[in-house]
Amino acid sequence: MHYLSTRGDAPVLDFGDVLLEGLAADGGLYVPREFPALSVSDLRDFAGLEYHEVATRVLAPFVAPSLSVDDLAPLTQDAYSTFTHSDVVPLSALTGGEHLVELFWGPTLSFKDVALQLLGRLFEHELARRGSFMTVVGATSGDTGSAAIEACRDRAGIELVMLHPAGRVTEIQRRQMTTVDSPNIHNVAVDGTFDDCQDLVKALFADRPFRERMRLGAVNSINWARVAAQTVYYVTTAVRLGAPEQAVSFCVPTGNFGNVLAGDVARRMGVPIDRLVVATNHNDILARTYRTGEMAMSEVRPSTSPAMDIQVSSNFERLLFELGDRRGAALAADMARFRAENSLALAPEALAGLRAGFDAGSASEDEVSATIAAVNEIDERLIDPHTAVALTVARRDAPAGGWTTPVAVMSTAHPAKFGEAVLEATGRQPELAPPLASLANRDEHVTALPNDLATLRDFVRSAVQ
Ligand SMILES: *Cc1c(COP(=O)(O)O)cnc(C)c1O
Repeated sequence: MHYLSTRGDAPVLDFGDVLLEGLAADGGLYVPREFPALSVSDLRDFAGLEYHEVATRVLAPFVAPSLSVDDLAPLTQDAYSTFTHSDVVPLSALTGGEHLVELFWGPTLSFKDVALQLLGRLFEHELARRGSFMTVVGATSGDTGSAAIEACRDRAGIELVMLHPAGRVTEIQRRQMTTVDSPNIHNVAVDGTFDDCQDLVKALFADRPFRERMRLGAVNSINWARVAAQTVYYVTTAVRLGAPEQAVSFCVPTGNFGNVLAGDVARRMGVPIDRLVVATNHNDILARTYRTGEMAMSEVRPSTSPAMDIQVSSNFERLLFELGDRRGAALAADMARFRAENSLALAPEALAGLRAGFDAGSASEDEVSATIAAVNEIDERLIDPHTAVALTVARRDAPAGGWTTPVAVMSTAHPAKFGEAVLEATGRQPELAPPLASLANRDEHVTALPNDLATLRDFVRSAVQ
């Protein structure tokens, strides 16, 4: 498999390079040259397999020739053995008829674990093969930080430096990061905001000599390996709900468009997926783009589903690449215009393509709270606010006459991770899941630093030695 950049002006790479590189040199995102096909008989086979076995089968063509099936199989087996549910990604039914796809049984209780548990192991494998090392640097305001730390802890060849804004992440989120006691994990509490943290990381990456010397790498959601890993649960869910004979629709709470993009990839590979519903909170750039054809930035407003509080959905570029018939130069010009003007009108064919395969809607904070309360009342269970965004849209925007396929709603976080919003909506405090219950008693490992690039550079240098 070869990978090309969405902006058409970067070297064509194989999987191992794409894995370590992240962003393409032309500023674009790597995508496979063609999508491998899953046949009807593949899908029938999958019904009898374990999750990690399906993962190996689905991912093998994406990782070849960098990794063989024999290289990949132990990595998927090991990655998904960290999930505490025997189905890894189980389904449960709601009284309303929807199926929840429970993506939160990994070590940090958010769907980020599904991709990152595998990504950490892929990094380690590829670095060992090359006899190389890498320094992962990231900034987090929540779920990504802890998932990346759990994915990379104690892995050979990797140092991880994770920045968070001091005093501006929840106690649970901070402790999920800082109580990890591993010599290759370095938590930094920056005296500043999340934007300050991101600016520091960007400035480190912009320093070419430093970047090359430290072999800086990233774990953010533009890494193709994360998207690929996420296609697997679309496959397993569709098969459980009746594929290949029966088509299935998915409703997905969306921030950076990584999760729902994986659904589109699964569909392009031949999984019978009917509708993909893009669900946003009140930060609704995607829902507005869908409605108006104009992708226009606006201010981020905080919400109870903070993993979706974003201005620009970086992975949307990969869909635009497909909708524009893979014309990299034209997309590069569009993205430059978007950067300059904070707004971009989609070409009529692209908009038509978007509307042909997707639906989109946004949920207000009141609707999210009402949905959490309704599920608590009728199904006597708690769902987190991100899941509630998707369920709100799936219910409110159902086609006239109802859905004609089974509907699977992506449940992206354990309710205990966002206990405050759940308590507010229901009066019930979610029970702390086991990985969270012991956090309060453990020592924290974190270095406080000022919002200063030179100080951070010294810190990274000493972490690598
Ligand atoms: C990251 C995240 C999302 C958004 O996923 P994208 O791939 O960025 O669209 C939704 N819910 C939770 C809980 C998350 O952590």
